[in-house]
Amino acid sequence: MLVDSHCHLNYPGLIEELPDVLSRARTAGVGTMVCICSRMGEFPDIRAIAEANPDVYCSVGVHPHDSGDDAPVALETLLHEAKHPKVVGIGETGLDFYYDKSPRDAQEINFRTHIAAARETGLPLIVHTRDADARTVEILTEEYQKGPFPGLIHCFTAGSELAESVIELGFYISLSGIITFKNAEAIRETVARLPLERILVETDSPFLAPIPRRGKRNEPAYVVHTAERAAELFGLSPAGLARTTTANFFRLFTRAKAPAAAV
Ligand SMILES: [Zn+2]
Ligand SMILES: [Zn+2]
Repeated sequence: MLVDSHCHLNYPGLIEELPDVLSRARTAGVGTMVCICSRMGEFPDIRAIAEANPDVYCSVGVHPHDSGDDAPVALETLLHEAKHPKVVGIGETGLDFYYDKSPRDAQEINFRTHIAAARETGLPLIVHTRDADARTVEILTEEYQKGPFPGLIHCFTAGSELAESVIELGFYISLSGIITFKNAEAIRETVARLPLERILVETDSPFLAPIPRRGKRNEPAYVVHTAERAAELFGLSPAGLARTTTANFFRLFTRAKAPAAAV
């Protein structure tokens, strides 16, 4: 069994054919999926998808891209929504200095609010970071000193310094289809040196379809291709990689329940 630790099932391309998307995922051996929240306005739809499907969980949070449009997200709002039993993580949050779609100070304010929510709930912080390695590490380290919190770096594309720093904080690293891309040699080299017991896999669907689906609309079933490439990097069988990353997922996402078949 595999887990898709990060997908956007409510987005165009997936929502129109959600029953088929979910059944293809199940057929491919994907036993658990986490539908990730990017804006508070989409949270009711995401929560409804998780409520309707026993193998789908969700998160609550505001993406750095969306941090400039609305007022900063309130800690009370995150804490309130995080009480729902299908909410298993806080995010996605973080810093995106590549697209800079929101002012950087607005991204940082929301990032710290999400960290406070993760610290208070004990739910893992789902971090998106792009072209912002140094500042991401600074904020995580500074906040960690105020009190620990669990978390992961999703869709890992950062450098080895960020990876080593967050591993030291106890974080996990989630690998997306990017590790299958031909031009991702540097990322693969960094990943291969990371501790296997901290590795998760994800699709970030409908984006970032792995080879051999690259350029098409991505969906949770395709996490199989990313897992196969990850297995090669770690010198494992696909079954061994699946077993380990699934165990890692449930160790981090303590509120998600492993299906009976996986334990
Ligand atoms: Zn992201
Ligand atoms: Zn995402």
